[in-house]
Amino acid sequence: MNRRKIFLNESEMPTHWYNIAADMPNKPLPPLNPRTRQPVGPEDLAPIFPMGLIGQEVSAERHIEIPDEVQDIYTIWRPSPLYRAYGLEKMLDAPVKIYYKYEGVSPSGSHKPNTAVAQAYYNKQEGVKKIVTETGAGQWGTALAFACAQFGLGCEVYMVRISYDQKPYRKIMMNTFGADVYASPSNRTQAGRNILDDDPDSPGSLGIAISEAIETAVQDESNKYALGSVLNHVLLHQTVIGQEAEKQLEIAGDYPDIIIAPLGGGSNFAGIAFPFIGQNITKGKNTRCIAVEPASCPKLTQGEFLYDFGDTAGYTPLLPMYTLGHNFRPAAIHAGGLRYHGASVLCSQLLKDNLIEAVALQQLECFQAGVVFARAEGIIAAPEATHAIAQVIREAEQAKKEGTKKTILFNMCGHGFVDMKAYEDYFAGALSDHQFTESDLKSALGEIRELQP
Ligand SMILES: *Cc1c(COP(=O)(O)O)cnc(C)c1O
Repeated sequence: MNRRKIFLNESEMPTHWYNIAADMPNKPLPPLNPRTRQPVGPEDLAPIFPMGLIGQEVSAERHIEIPDEVQDIYTIWRPSPLYRAYGLEKMLDAPVKIYYKYEGVSPSGSHKPNTAVAQAYYNKQEGVKKIVTETGAGQWGTALAFACAQFGLGCEVYMVRISYDQKPYRKIMMNTFGADVYASPSNRTQAGRNILDDDPDSPGSLGIAISEAIETAVQDESNKYALGSVLNHVLLHQTVIGQEAEKQLEIAGDYPDIIIAPLGGGSNFAGIAFPFIGQNITKGKNTRCIAVEPASCPKLTQGEFLYDFGDTAGYTPLLPMYTLGHNFRPAAIHAGGLRYHGASVLCSQLLKDNLIEAVALQQLECFQAGVVFARAEGIIAAPEATHAIAQVIREAEQAKKEGTKKTILFNMCGHGFVDMKAYEDYFAGALSDHQFTESDLKSALGEIRELQP
C-alpha cells in the first residue's frame, strides 16, 4: 500500500526554533528609526512588543528553545502531517515525487497559530492584558484570537474591509474565540479616518490595518501589538514546519530538490524553507527554494530593495526589504494574505543574495491549480496556498519536458473552507487576472526614495 501520510510522535517535535540569521552569509541590515535614520534599539520597540520577542527579533543564536507551555499548546495540532501527493502525481504524469506539509490541521486552519501561540505566551509572561492586531483574509486574526483565548488575554482585530465583506465567517470565528473585530479603515483611529476622508469606499489594505492596530495598542500601557508575518521573530516561530518536514522526509527516505511556498510577508515560506536553506549554506546541499507571490502584488519580482515602512501611516521602523512602496494599493484579489506591499527582511536579504528564487503568478492559474488539487488530493486549499500548487504544477511540467526526476516539497499552508466565496466567484467566471500600471508602481516607489539613509 502507498504510504500517503507520514506522522511524527509528539516526542519527536522540535524543541527549538531555528534562527537562520546565525547562518546567513550577509546578515540582515538593521531596522531604522524613521526620525533619526539610526538603527532602532530595544527601547524603540518596547511600547509595542514584549521584551521576550524583541530579544528574538535581534538574536544571533542559531537555536532558540521553545517554552514548555508553547510546546504543550502546539500538541493540539502538531506535529502536522506530511503527505505524499500520489493523486496529484498520477494526474500530472511527470517524473516527480510531490510531498506537502499540511498546516490546515491547526485550530484556525493555517500555519499562523505556530507564531500566535508563542507571541501570546511572551505577552502573558510580561503582564500584558490585551493584544491588538490587524488581519487580511482573517487567518492571522483567527490564529491570534485562538492563542489569546488559551492564555486568557483580550484580543482586538482590525480586519481589512474587503476581506471583512468577503469572508464574514472569519469574523465569527474570531468572535467565537473571544476577539473584538473592526473593519479597517475604521473611524476608531486617526490613521483610519485619514484614509476614509480620502476614499470613503476604501477596500483597505494590510498596511492601513497595521497602522490602526499600532495606533490603538500604544494608547494603553497594558496593551501590546502583534504582527502575523514579516518580522524575524515571526519567521523564527514558523521553523517548526520545516524541521518536522525534514524528519518526515527522512522517514520517507527522500530529500527535496525543490521547495515551494506562497509568500505574503514571508512567514510560511520561511517556516518550511529556512531549515533547508540552513543545510544549503552549512552542508553544501542544493535545494532550490521558490517563493510564489501574486502577480497583482509582486514585491519580490518587480519591487526594489529599499528601506520602507511596514505600514501605510508610517508608524513602524524602516525595514530593508523588497517593496512596492507602502502606499502601493494591490488589487482586491481573494488571496488576501498575499496582499502586502513588502517582504520580510530575512527573505529579502536571501533573495538579494540569490539564496532563494521568486516567481509571480496570476490568480486564475492559481485557482485552476487549486481545483485540480482538490479533485486529486481531497483537500481544498486556501487561495494563498493555491499559488504554491500552481508552481508545483509548473515545475512538474518542466521536469517532464527535461526528462529529469525531481522531488518537490511544498507548504499547504492552509485550507480554504472559509474561502468558498472565492471558489464560487472562480466557478462563476467572476474573477480576472490583474495587471497594475507601471505608473502606479513608479509613484509608490518614488515616494519612498526620500526615506533612504
Ligand atoms: C497569512 C497567510 C499567508 C501569507 O503570509 P506569510 O507570512 O507569507 O505566510 C499565506 N497563506 C495563508 C494560508 C495565510 O494564512
